[in-house]
Amino acid sequence: MSHPDASPAEIDASESPSFFARKFGITSIKEDRIRWNKDWETCLKSLKNSGVVFEEMQFVLRKCYEEYPGFLPDIQKDVIRKQNALQTLLASMFSQGNFATVWLLLDEPNRQKHLMHGLVQASERALFHEDARASCPEITMTGLLKGSGNALLKFLELFQEMKSSVSEDAPCLMPCEWWDHVVDDVPKPLSDEDQFVHAMLAMVRNDFIAEFIIGVAESFSRAVVNKDKDIKSILNVMEQDLSIADGFAHALKTKRDKPIIRCENCEKSASELGSDARFMVCSTCKAKLKFSLHYCSQKCQTEDWKRHKVNCGKKAISKRLPGTAGDSTWAYPAVPDMYREMLNNGNGRTMNLRDIGAGTPQFVRSSALQLQVSMIEADKDADYFLFTASQEPIRFVVHEFFMKMVFRLLRTNAMSSKERTGTCALAQYLLKEMASTPGLSKESILRQLSSEYGIDMEVALKEFTERGGPSNETFLEKMGKGVRAMGPKLMSMGG
Ligand SMILES: [Zn+2]
Ligand SMILES: [Zn+2]
Repeated sequence: MSHPDASPAEIDASESPSFFARKFGITSIKEDRIRWNKDWETCLKSLKNSGVVFEEMQFVLRKCYEEYPGFLPDIQKDVIRKQNALQTLLASMFSQGNFATVWLLLDEPNRQKHLMHGLVQASERALFHEDARASCPEITMTGLLKGSGNALLKFLELFQEMKSSVSEDAPCLMPCEWWDHVVDDVPKPLSDEDQFVHAMLAMVRNDFIAEFIIGVAESFSRAVVNKDKDIKSILNVMEQDLSIADGFAHALKTKRDKPIIRCENCEKSASELGSDARFMVCSTCKAKLKFSLHYCSQKCQTEDWKRHKVNCGKKAISKRLPGTAGDSTWAYPAVPDMYREMLNNGNGRTMNLRDIGAGTPQFVRSSALQLQVSMIEADKDADYFLFTASQEPIRFVVHEFFMKMVFRLLRTNAMSSKERTGTCALAQYLLKEMASTPGLSKESILRQLSSEYGIDMEVALKEFTERGGPSNETFLEKMGKGVRAMGPKLMSMGG
């Protein structure tokens, strides 16, 4: 970003320390940026009364009007240019860079790092420098971290929406309650000077916002290009299988703030029961255990009594219905079922992988595949069976937890889903692990899989491997690594 030389903002703001910094005792950005940001957030809270900000800035802007009355068009042009560049940048970040997915999958310290970069950069580059923050009460670290990162995404979407609603040569003015007050409170009609001050203030605000977003985008893009350690595992998974990463991101995006209530008997939620739904709780459980077991009606409570009386007042046990407080993934209604179990088991180590079976087929299985399915269903600890030339089965077992999970999820896909994604990934992994086992060979494994899945596995696998690019790791190994990195992250966010 280039900046006009010797702008009045630089003259007014950079030579003397920030007005707000002095007035509110804000720590210097050079001294400690964490404290600087905290101090600013406190300052913004106390500035709820918009008049203070406006009066102070007015003073500077009126001086500016006297000294540089022709300055406004230049500043406007600069802000428009920044906003146009930003619109292009954001569009490509969201579409090609899958920004939303990566952002949601990043952990909070990383999101903090990028937001901080944006704030610092805007305070260095924007007109009025850090004082411009006073005109942007919605740009706070705390606010934009909300909703596991969703708040920033919403803010950026709003910017894109606002920007595309104005022409290319007009500035986009971000709406904000504070700003509306400033606009409304000025007595009309406006003098030329008032108009200038007003328009300048709008530029100061939107310039800071633009610089802030640019700063966040730059910091984020740099991390992507450099494949920073923290972002690498996410990118890794996304390169291999975008749908997995998108699944996680979607789960984070639709995060609930609090659990829903369901009737312990009919299992219906308030929205399913209709607007007149009234829940009652079991009073004994409430009094003795401080535990709420909900019923939609007397009838449901009576019906459930047979089942509930064993625990009533003794043990806080519910059916752990989806979305209710008893469900440890209540916060993530969109978590795909296959992850739900993993998440419901906390650290994952206790997850019962044995339950990830072959699934319900959406196509007619070959007889070879039917045999395979019946064998893995009979031996739930085995992950696959390979056959020697004399039809002796050799048991294949994946030991590492996340690898086993990924293998089994792909196995379900290959054996049951219409798309049958996962077939080649399984083949690739089986070859790597098992081709040198006595009694087996690359050819024998390919032959077996070809007859099970009814495709020329050698051809399919060649294509699959080429698509994955040169690598010593199989698709499954990369996925396992990625899920291992992301799974616990998602779990630790739970609840
Ligand atoms: Zn009910
Ligand atoms: Zn009870």
